[in-house]
Amino acid sequence: MIIVVAVMLALGAMFYTLFVRQQDVPEPIPVSPIQHLEDRKHAIYDNLRDLQFEYRLGKLSDEDYQQTKLALQKELAGVLAETEETVKRLGGSSVRVQAKSSNAAVSRKSTVCPHCSARFPQPLKFCGECGKAIA
Ligand SMILES: [Zn+2]
Repeated sequence: MIIVVAVMLALGAMFYTLFVRQQDVPEPIPVSPIQHLEDRKHAIYDNLRDLQFEYRLGKLSDEDYQQTKLALQKELAGVLAETEETVKRLGGSSVRVQAKSSNAAVSRKSTVCPHCSARFPQPLKFCGECGKAIA
């Protein structure tokens, strides 16, 4: 009798775990630990592209262009190093796969351009629309 009760309890627990909990508890959305670094990296690439564009249009002086480019490249190097370190620490390939599928973290820090009111999902130093600096 005791064994039957024990088996029933075990089955009940299994049933509860398999069916009830999966329905009631939603899976947490996985947020990659390097998502924010990926966002920053893309923002810097965008800024570099915009900077070059502005420079070609003659809107920037040589000095401004070189200074800003250098600052962005330095920031990029830092982000890349940090990404590499994080990936290494967490053990590689699974992190990269996660990073692609997760967009949930992007909306945390959006940027609105004070000049043209363009909105971007990631923090930016320069507007991707009008190219002006965002304070
Ligand atoms: Zn703008």
